[in-house]
Amino acid sequence: MTSSADITVDKVTLRYETAKTTVLALDGLSLSVKPNEFAVIVGPSGCGKSSLLYLIAGLEGITSGRISVGGKTVEAPGADRGMVFQSYTLFPWLTVAQNVEYGPKRRNVPEAARKELVEHYLSEVGLAEFRDHYPSQLSGGMKQRVAIARALANDPAVLLMDEPFGALDSQTRHTMQRLLLRVWDHSHKTVLFVTHDIDEAILLADRVFVMSGRPGQIRKVLNVDFARPRSSEIVLDPAFISMKREIMGLLKSDEGDDDH
Ligand code: ADP
Ligand code: MG
Repeated sequence: MTSSADITVDKVTLRYETAKTTVLALDGLSLSVKPNEFAVIVGPSGCGKSSLLYLIAGLEGITSGRISVGGKTVEAPGADRGMVFQSYTLFPWLTVAQNVEYGPKRRNVPEAARKELVEHYLSEVGLAEFRDHYPSQLSGGMKQRVAIARALANDPAVLLMDEPFGALDSQTRHTMQRLLLRVWDHSHKTVLFVTHDIDEAILLADRVFVMSGRPGQIRKVLNVDFARPRSSEIVLDPAFISMKREIMGLLKSDEGDDDH
C-alpha cells in the first residue's frame, strides 16, 4: 500500500475532431510530477484540465507527444491510475463496501485480502459504519469519500482528481481537504489534482501548475513551501496571500480567452 510513481507529460497535443469542427485543446503541454508529490493544476475553464487528466488516465487518445507513469508509456486505462471525478461515479446498485471492493475483486485479489482492504480504506475515510449503505443514502461529501476509498483500494501508483470537491459546500469541502491530506500522508501516493479554487490549490499542493487559456499550456509552476501539516489558518499568512494574488493575476490575464 505504498506504491507511487512519477508522471511525465512530454509535449502533448490534443485535438478533438468532431463532425463540424476541430478543437485544439492542448498544444505541446509538458509537465512532470514527482513520486509522492501533491501537484495541483489550476486554469481557466475550458483550458484542457479535464482533457489532460483523461489523457493521463488513458481514457482519451493523444494527438501527439508522450505521457508516461512510472516510466511506462500510457496507452490505455490501468489500475496504476486511480481517478476521482467531480460528479459522483459510484455504482448505485452496490453498497459502500461493495463499491470499494469492486476494483480488487476485478483484479482477483483473494477474498480475505479484499475484505481487509475495504475495512482499511473505509476506516481511513471515516465511513466504516456506513459499509452497508447505498450511495443514494449518502451526502455528497460521503460519496466522495467512498470514491477516494474506492480509488485507493486498487493501490494505484497515482491518483488523478478532477475537481473532486467542486460540488460540495464550503464546510464539507474543508473537511474533505483535511481528510485528503491525511490519506495522502498515509498512502504516499502521487496526486495530480485539478481545482478552480486557488485557496484549495495552495493549501493542498507541493507545487501549483497554472495553465493558460485554450489551447492549454503550462504558464507557470509555483513551489508551495508551507510546512505540513498545514492548518486552515495559513490562508491568513502574507506569503499565502501573495501567492494567491500571483495566481489570480496569471488567471486574470487569460480572461476573454474563455468562450464557455
Ligand atoms: P477544462 O477541464 O479545463 O474546463 P476541458 O478539458 O473539459 O477543459 O475542455 C477543453 C476544451 O476541449 C474545451 O474547449 C472543450 O469544449 C473541448 N472539449 C472537451 N471535450 C471534448 C470532446 N469530447 N469533443 C470536442 N471538444 C471537447
Ligand atoms: Mg474540467
